[in-house]
Amino acid sequence: MTFKELKLVSPILKALERENYQTPSPIQLQAIPPALQGRDLLGCAQTGTGKTAAFAVPTLQILLSSGKRDQETRRPIRSLVLTPTRELALQIYESFNAYGRYTNLRTCVIYGGVSQRPQETALRRGVDILVATPGRLLDLIGQGLINLKQVEILTLDEADRMLDMGFIHDVRKVIELVPKQRQTLFFSATMPREIVALSDSMLIDPVKISITPEKPTVEAIHQSLYLVDKANKRHLLVDLLRDPAIESALIFTRTKHGADRLVKELGRAGIDARAIHGNKSQNARQAALNSFKERETRVLVATDIAARGIDIDELSHVINYDLPEVPESYVHRIGRTGRAGHGGTAISFCDIDEKKALRDIERLCGRQIPRITDHDWPMEVLTPTPKAMRQPRGRRQVNQVSHNRKNFA
Ligand code: AMP
Repeated sequence: MTFKELKLVSPILKALERENYQTPSPIQLQAIPPALQGRDLLGCAQTGTGKTAAFAVPTLQILLSSGKRDQETRRPIRSLVLTPTRELALQIYESFNAYGRYTNLRTCVIYGGVSQRPQETALRRGVDILVATPGRLLDLIGQGLINLKQVEILTLDEADRMLDMGFIHDVRKVIELVPKQRQTLFFSATMPREIVALSDSMLIDPVKISITPEKPTVEAIHQSLYLVDKANKRHLLVDLLRDPAIESALIFTRTKHGADRLVKELGRAGIDARAIHGNKSQNARQAALNSFKERETRVLVATDIAARGIDIDELSHVINYDLPEVPESYVHRIGRTGRAGHGGTAISFCDIDEKKALRDIERLCGRQIPRITDHDWPMEVLTPTPKAMRQPRGRRQVNQVSHNRKNFA
């Protein structure tokens, strides 16, 4: 099946050709035809499946064909896309611009954490499609700068993550401001109870689509695991990063604080690294990401929340400095390497307190991650830290003393 057979109009086909998309991905095949017919969609899919085009392409085509716009009057917002993070908002905005390159439809993106002035200017010029994070959107609606009364298509992207991040009330408020008579495209990677309830309240007889990311991608990734004491993880990491075969590494830490600390420690060892997480300003996050994408920065340290949804092509290594507490995150993390059939490498560290997380990951993957035992920092602390001494997320101190005598060079 080709994009042409999906009955897309020529300006969109031309743009997809320019993007070098040869064939529609499974989610696009399933989502585009019913969306073009005006049906509501309930898509259970993650980033990386091509879901942005699955909603952006039909949105552009419907807006092009409905053509209600009067050139003389200000453009009303006819499509709203709600998404949880600034990074996702920017990526979606860029996708609309790419797929809509040969149309005269205008897209605007708004998100918090930056000055609202440029966003205000863009809104005043009139937009057809608005991509927004919920907080800033409500803010600008409150200031009378945005009116959603003419929205025809509402898209909710990564609904489960909006719930995770505490945005669900804001989302509900926004929905109240959009006309009841509309088309709704609803996407979520997982479907917890609250999300099922939200989708039930928003969708009318939706077409249900469920896409699981291709497993072989993960199978193609070379995975290995180092058992190491918490206090020695940084030494081991420095040793590994001395290998020039690691062209670019995305390193995951459990906390924002841990990401910052690691960047400093790597800096002391002469390894240039940058961090990306929610406490950084939008400009700092974007600068770090761009520099990594352009290969100026070799090492990017991220937390799960900051990294989810970031699209980086041809990443050679993912390093789990801390193992994720949710086993599915392991698959998401390592799936960032080995994209498009390239076999990437995923290295994981596991200290004694992470043994349970490791068991859960291996159970989920149905196999043991091969151990590397021949290294300079073998695990020597074999007693788990008592639960009561483990601090909750964020501020856990290094409370294990390693007996390894090798110093941090
Ligand atoms: P998404 O899941 O929307 O974040 O898309 C993941 C990546 O796949 C992005 O880099 C898209 O540019 C790319 N992509 C989306 N659809 C296609 C397609 N049909 N063919 C090739 N690449 C695509």
